[in-house]
Amino acid sequence: MEAERINWGPSNGYEIQDYQLSPSSWNRYEECPRKYWLSRQGLPKKIGMPIVIGNAVHNSVEEICNIEISDRNPSEKDWLPKLSSEILSNHWQLQKDIFFATSRRSGWKKKSYTKAKEGLDKALLMLLSQAKITDIDLPEITIGMWNKVRDIILANEGTLNSECGKLMGRLDLLLKDVDEQDNEIGWIVVDLKTGRPPKDSLSKTVNRQLRFYRDLLILINPNHPPIRTEGWYTSNQTMHEATGSSVTEDAFGAWQSIELTENPFQATPNEFSCGFCEWKAWCPKWLLAIHDDTLKRHKTFNDEVVTLINFDEEVGMASFKIMVPDGIDGELRDSEKSFGAFLSNQPLDQLRELQNNGYEGPLFLGSTRIDGEIRHMGDWSEILPWNPLIKSIR
Ligand code: SF4
Repeated sequence: MEAERINWGPSNGYEIQDYQLSPSSWNRYEECPRKYWLSRQGLPKKIGMPIVIGNAVHNSVEEICNIEISDRNPSEKDWLPKLSSEILSNHWQLQKDIFFATSRRSGWKKKSYTKAKEGLDKALLMLLSQAKITDIDLPEITIGMWNKVRDIILANEGTLNSECGKLMGRLDLLLKDVDEQDNEIGWIVVDLKTGRPPKDSLSKTVNRQLRFYRDLLILINPNHPPIRTEGWYTSNQTMHEATGSSVTEDAFGAWQSIELTENPFQATPNEFSCGFCEWKAWCPKWLLAIHDDTLKRHKTFNDEVVTLINFDEEVGMASFKIMVPDGIDGELRDSEKSFGAFLSNQPLDQLRELQNNGYEGPLFLGSTRIDGEIRHMGDWSEILPWNPLIKSIR
């Protein structure tokens, strides 16, 4: 690998700005400024299986690409599947340890290992095809062929920083772009994606994310060759190129807007942003939006703010009174409505722990499944103290 050919911008020892703009912080800010503000308050984050799969695949690809094999017999076959299985299984275990050490987590799905394995195999096949080695199964890959792959990898997993320290991006892979005769004609920035592939072209946000990496690389490597940028979707082995004008100027503009303030940023509740927002227990605005009908109530899954009426921790049953907003900063009053719920796994443990710690305040119930008069809360749900944040706690 030839990472030394690339300028990554200032790193250790250089004074990075207090805050930096990355593609994900930019997207989060645009979805809802309050979501970004809350994400920077040091609150407990959630982990789920898509994160576990993504990390295990990315870390395994990185390790496989870094393994030195040039002293081995170039005609040796049948080594890659064994090596990649061993590496994946180590990273899977590491991710599992992190998962169970995280307080906010969905249910662990053992079967997701198969998805990660498929994702890793496909990522390796995509790398091979970039080195023009196609229509071949992994056991048939020789050391000589893999050396060809290593030859096109300029860098894998690196952090780019703009000289001013304001912009930051993490690259998965930087590859040589080669022509039919294997002559280097430029660079390709590759972002590995283990999530759902696009039906047609890249979404606006992913397109901008990829151009952000490209333009940051251009910014700190003024003598760069032509650079292309692609999203590689492992689930269906498709490569999607991101094209379009430079995002650098907009990125510097966005950097100015994300400087954290004592008071929360504006909240812009809407179905898309609030749907999977992990900060609802700290955000009074979605609750107001539910009650003024800006946000719809869903028929099968609902979030609620409640007080506890009864709790049988042996049976895993609880009854709750629904609370409604009584002010704009998360203040509450009783409603006439209440419901019973069966609790299991994470939400049951969380409610037990809150009880054991003597917590008596209002609760945020994330994702209750409605089943007639009763509700169910399992691995997909969580119970947290209702704790609207109206001043920064950083
Ligand atoms: S719950 Fe909705 S309004 Fe509140 S921070 Fe999240 S996305 Fe923004």
